[in-house]
Amino acid sequence: MLIQLSEEHEAIREGVAKVCAAFDDEYWSACDTEKRFPFEFHKAMADGGWLGITMPESLGGANLGVTGAAIMMHAISSSAGGYSAASTVHLNLFGPHAVVVFGTDEQKERMLKPLIAGTDRACFGVTEPDAGLDTTSITTFATKVEGGYRVTGRKIWTSSGQVSNKILLLTRTTPRDQCRKPTDGMTLFYTDLDKSRIEVRRIDKMGRNAVDSNATFIDDYFVPDADRIGEEGMGFHYILHSLNPERILVGIEAVGLGQGALARAARYAGERVVFGRPIGANQGIQHPLAENWAYLESAFWMIMRAACLYDSGQPCGAEANAGKLLGARAAFDACTRAVMTHGGMGYSTEYQVERLFRESILLRIAPITEQLILSFIGEKVLGLPKSY
Ligand SMILES: Cc1cc2nc3c(=O)[nH]c(=O)nc-3n(C[C@H](O)[C@H](O)[C@H](O)COP(=O)(O)OP(=O)(O)OC[C@H]3O[C@@H](n4cnc5c(N)ncnc54)[C@H](O)[C@@H]3O)c2cc1C
Repeated sequence: MLIQLSEEHEAIREGVAKVCAAFDDEYWSACDTEKRFPFEFHKAMADGGWLGITMPESLGGANLGVTGAAIMMHAISSSAGGYSAASTVHLNLFGPHAVVVFGTDEQKERMLKPLIAGTDRACFGVTEPDAGLDTTSITTFATKVEGGYRVTGRKIWTSSGQVSNKILLLTRTTPRDQCRKPTDGMTLFYTDLDKSRIEVRRIDKMGRNAVDSNATFIDDYFVPDADRIGEEGMGFHYILHSLNPERILVGIEAVGLGQGALARAARYAGERVVFGRPIGANQGIQHPLAENWAYLESAFWMIMRAACLYDSGQPCGAEANAGKLLGARAAFDACTRAVMTHGGMGYSTEYQVERLFRESILLRIAPITEQLILSFIGEKVLGLPKSY
């Protein structure tokens, strides 16, 4: 058993960190305050060839698997950009996973190449206001017509919708009460997000403001057959396929965010002198930071184990879910502690930790909440009755 990163992984980490280093606190702070999408960072990542890290080599990707992507996302979120930086590229890496696995050759060529080049940006339209976490209760409906479908419904929280020209859209094509199983009868599309026909209304929110989130209103919108991914009625099953990689990446992004905040806290604790000595000489400051390190490190390795299992084709649901839970909790604790360590300055924007703190709570909520992860582990790992 060899539990360490390979040379290739270290090379990914260094390459990505180099790109990130060009975008400093000032840049990310301005993006957050001005609610401005980090176009320059997105372009730099595309130009460096990083957006195709999980995509097939035949399309210009690097096919480095979820493990490679995890190393990359970890490097991004531990940089000055934190979770905003990760979210800038996350959906493009990952949202289209269903196209990678279930798309036709024509679709892969047409849909994935522009994402890898950074000329297209995609958002993810799954969550609905009246369904919440109960995804099989979505009601956005795609009615079959000549040559395609007419879609009507409402999505919520569609992230990066303001700057995306494509949307991965989960719909119903058979009402839930007419399906054999609630997970049947849903159909997935990857299609144009034509804002002259679809209203994408920004939601004001607590943090991660460089990347917008939206309420999306779709009214009798035509989607061609060519944009349907896989078979009609199988959409939910395709989405399920990408859940474990998503948990892995979000979990590792959380760890990076927490480690970035912890590094800032440790630096400040070493420099700030009160009562004639650095505050970090006090165990009341030092021990909580050491504890954050331990929790973040253990989450990191749980997540890397999930990534390795996934890439070698083995079941990884328990590890991926546990990794997301541990990573998000450890990140939230580390970011909270980073604010506390800075005392009053932790509350100022100058030291950045309040920005990271605001981002960290999101990781406990989205894309899946802690409660639902624990329900999954309770049922699938511990054999307890299903509770949702
Ligand atoms: C900033 C942001 C960005 C997002 N981006 C996207 C995006 O790009 N695309 C997208 O599709 N979605 C996106 N989401 C949506 C996100 O995935 C959901 O908010 C999340 O899954 C939680 O769903 P909900 O908000 O509807 O919570 P609800 O389903 O309303 O749940 C509310 C609370 O009740 C708890 N709960 C519900 N049922 C149970 C149960 N049976 N047992 C125990 N507890 C339960 C939940 O855990 C939660 O704490 C985003 C959300 C946010 C906040």
